[in-house]
Amino acid sequence: MKHLLLAFALALGTAAPAWAWSNHALAAYRAFEVLPEVAQAAPVAAEPLEDFLAAQATPIAKLLAQQDAWAQQHIAHYPPLPADLRFDPAIASQGAPALRKAFLMALRVSPESRFALYVQPDPRGPEPTAAALPHDAVSALPLRAKDGEAHHFMRLQAGEAVAPLAVLASASDEPDYGMDVNLWEDSPSAWGPRYGFGPLPFGNPALDFATQAPFHMGFYHESPVIYAAAGFLKRTYPELRVHQFMGLSRLAFESGHAYWGWRFAGLAAHYVQDLTQPYHARLAPGFSTARLIGIQLLAALGMPARKNAMVVLLSNRHFVLERYESQMIQAGGKTGQPTALEVALHDKRQDGAGGAWGDATLRDAVALQSFDEGEAVTRQLLACVPARYVSDPDFDFGVDGGSIDLMSAVAGQGPQAKASLEASIATLMGHFGAHSRELVRAILTPVRQP
Ligand SMILES: [Zn+2]
Repeated sequence: MKHLLLAFALALGTAAPAWAWSNHALAAYRAFEVLPEVAQAAPVAAEPLEDFLAAQATPIAKLLAQQDAWAQQHIAHYPPLPADLRFDPAIASQGAPALRKAFLMALRVSPESRFALYVQPDPRGPEPTAAALPHDAVSALPLRAKDGEAHHFMRLQAGEAVAPLAVLASASDEPDYGMDVNLWEDSPSAWGPRYGFGPLPFGNPALDFATQAPFHMGFYHESPVIYAAAGFLKRTYPELRVHQFMGLSRLAFESGHAYWGWRFAGLAAHYVQDLTQPYHARLAPGFSTARLIGIQLLAALGMPARKNAMVVLLSNRHFVLERYESQMIQAGGKTGQPTALEVALHDKRQDGAGGAWGDATLRDAVALQSFDEGEAVTRQLLACVPARYVSDPDFDFGVDGGSIDLMSAVAGQGPQAKASLEASIATLMGHFGAHSRELVRAILTPVRQP
């Protein structure tokens, strides 16, 4: 059994970078610009986090306590907030840094999270005029080549008016800036061992970026056989983050801190968007449960070749899908006409298909849809992408794929291949847009008391 566990752990932990739709903000601008509640909302005044916390310390303390109680009811394997991390509004008297740290630790995110005042400018918008902010002022993670794309951060001054669309879209990329890194008992951080989340469920605790995966993936729909062999797969917590940031967003809106209303809404949207990536909602798309178990058994019997091959193939396909999406979205920003991807992000026909947003929506609508899509998307990848990148276990895309121009490579397979892969990715971006808007609508709709 130990071998089985190890094998599953490896399947999720080989590659360090990416692990997400690349730059969520670029897609989020398109997804939200068609929502009148966002696009037509009045500009808001940028407010430092500490000011919001100081003004609302008591309601925030009450909310965080309610959220902890909610999570104990609704999230399986949720470890309650340790008593010494409970947010005490009296901490406000000890000054802004202590207040901020207490809040971040009560949320159980990295206390090194920056929460700077900034936006990522819309590539479709006017040329930015404000000063650029250096990477380290916005992100707690070291700058690394993420799909060769550069993030542009524009400084906001406290009190400066900013469009809600820019706040919301920019924040939707922010959970990838180190907020969920090293939160585990075995993490090399001062805070991880205090958070009570236990050891990292899967992956390598030494690869900082990989340690965020259990908050950005949700394995809710695997076969019982898989859970029996690898129960730790249930320890994923995107539902916690969505609930936390939705609640904070509502509190901020209701108390007149609209900037933080939009900012927290964007943070919540990130986790919803991540689960529209089938490789974030399914352990091994393209591998049946029977095959998966067979491969693991062989490995347990001392024949690891197929297991090792599967691990590389899953990682490669995961990367290829995200890289292609990234290239599509960046190519779109440079053209005058809306691309197929942008049309899909704008498409509101599927909005609300899963009913009103509720406690189970992330799991039973967003993640399930994405889980179901995993097989078809994988078939498309295998049919359209050069075999070397998706079917060759001797090639490791995470290591060697850095400079590959996937769009050209797929175009070389013929127009049919290109069109069908892009249609498949557009479908996923349609889900990205629809669920992002559903979430924001739910936040903006006052909760009706029964
Ligand atoms: Zn993410």
